Amino acid sequence: MLAILKDEMLVRGVVFRLASDLPSEARFLIEDFRLAVNNAIRAGLQARVTSRNALVRIAYRDFHQEHPKMYAQHLVSAFEVAGGALKNHRRRTRKGIACKIPYVKRLMMKAENQAYKLDRESGTVDLPIRAGCHVKMKLVVGRYHRRYLNDPDLSLGSLTLLHDRVIVAFRKAAPAPYTPESIVSLDTNERSLDGVFVGRRPGAAVPVKARFPDVAIIQQRHHDRRRRLQKKKAHDRRTSRNLCRSEGKRERNRIEYRLHKVADAVVSFADGHRSAVVLEDLTGLRFKRGKDMNRRLSMWPRRKLHRIIEYKARWKGVPIIKVDPRYSSRTCPACGRIQDSRMGTEFVCECGWHLDRHINASLNLLQTAISNGMAGGLRFDPGAFQHDVMMILYEPSMAARSEPNGTSCIGEVT
Ligand SMILES: [Zn+2]
Repeated sequence: MLAILKDEMLVRGVVFRLASDLPSEARFLIEDFRLAVNNAIRAGLQARVTSRNALVRIAYRDFHQEHPKMYAQHLVSAFEVAGGALKNHRRRTRKGIACKIPYVKRLMMKAENQAYKLDRESGTVDLPIRAGCHVKMKLVVGRYHRRYLNDPDLSLGSLTLLHDRVIVAFRKAAPAPYTPESIVSLDTNERSLDGVFVGRRPGAAVPVKARFPDVAIIQQRHHDRRRRLQKKKAHDRRTSRNLCRSEGKRERNRIEYRLHKVADAVVSFADGHRSAVVLEDLTGLRFKRGKDMNRRLSMWPRRKLHRIIEYKARWKGVPIIKVDPRYSSRTCPACGRIQDSRMGTEFVCECGWHLDRHINASLNLLQTAISNGMAGGLRFDPGAFQHDVMMILYEPSMAARSEPNGTSCIGEVT
């Protein structure tokens, strides 16, 4: 769960399991909370307002009379959630997208940071239910959670309570990016990031690679399954739609899990070498037409991968340089000639330069960054490029852990 606030506060939602069942008071609270959210949505639609304060004005008194025991701050937070749903609904209707009246089905409640206490030492949440009634819930704390709980730079944001888990938002001000001592330039492809790493010392330019072949395989597999579902359930549009939707959600989850692993590897490599990361600017990039081509070369996972890398980089203060990728696949980095068309797996130039097509593209991205003065005085000489070594930043076998839901593991699809 990633989000970037406007004032460069970074937020990361960390999921904790509850050590025991949800106390019954807390269960009643989340039921009341959902009721309050749905009431406020209805009131907001009627009065045509979406802001939290307006909702408080029109709906607070009625609801408070019906549920006098609910803690006032939780009620305000319910209006906040309702406001979010209403704004979404308004945006969609304005765009002309048909959508149902929003209704929160899931049992959840959100508490702002003044409305709960978390003992970061013991991992115990203290949640007020009403005057004089608090529940204490013990969270399951692992090594991953300790990293966040013990980091003094992180402050606590909101807390989301679900029937079996708790999501705590940790916040920090974005650190200023460091001055890079090296640079890693990456060309983003369907199955890998391919690039070059340039250190301070001239001649230390080596090709790097992060492989994620499983992402394309998962996309293909889910695409086939969706097609089969549509055919099989052609007589029942509703079932077909629902099945496809859950299929799509599963696909996205599985892919995002892998993209996070790749991004982690890239960012921690860059952080360890004090590198700036050069990526192509994918916004507004057109791609090949044709239904099948569109799907297979879908830009979605690549844009998503960039977003995750950029977010993780911001969190650690790793500088990111985005450059225009035009001609990057057709330019010779040694002599500057632009070839007429893209070639096979190897880029070959009349001047004698030849290199793997993807890595060649990353050299061009790097040179664009350098010539635009974005690389902070770092230089690159194509003559000093070491062709014979390859640094692997990531490959699926490096992910030792299986998928969290346990339905399949990464090794299976390579
Ligand atoms: Zn050339």
